[in-house]
Amino acid sequence: MFCPFCGAQDTKVIDSRLVADGGQVRRRRECLSCSERFTTFETAELVMPRVVKSDGTREPFNESKLRAGMLRALEKRPVSMEDLEAAISRLCHRLRATGEREVPAREVGEFVMEALQELDDVAYVRFASVYRSFQDISEFAAEVDRLRKGGRKDGEPGDDQGGA
Ligand SMILES: [Zn+2]
Repeated sequence: MFCPFCGAQDTKVIDSRLVADGGQVRRRRECLSCSERFTTFETAELVMPRVVKSDGTREPFNESKLRAGMLRALEKRPVSMEDLEAAISRLCHRLRATGEREVPAREVGEFVMEALQELDDVAYVRFASVYRSFQDISEFAAEVDRLRKGGRKDGEPGDDQGGA
């Protein structure tokens, strides 16, 4: 994003908000060379952040990979494709709204966990158990326990004790 005042390429994002139903992002940017501020409208595709993996490599955000992972967690669970797609689009919306050029894979994982938690507790625990590095097994057990006691919709105790 070039500065319209001096033409420098490096700018930083001061503020980011979604407009036009999430299809566009309005940004306030500040030029790192001349410190002038300006506003840009960027299409959502351009601002989907890249994912920084734990080994430091970067890759483009991959929606079908995300969908595949969530589908695996939701296997045989009573969640409609419609609800899954809605969750995925909310998740993409959130990622864009971070306004970051790059996000850690860990953060994407957290977003996925939150999305799954809203869809289905069992799928959430399945995903969390493989994704998050639980400190120890008691932490994992505590999480399962917390979910059961929570009396959330459609929790089915005893369904998935074996883990992945
Ligand atoms: Zn400038």
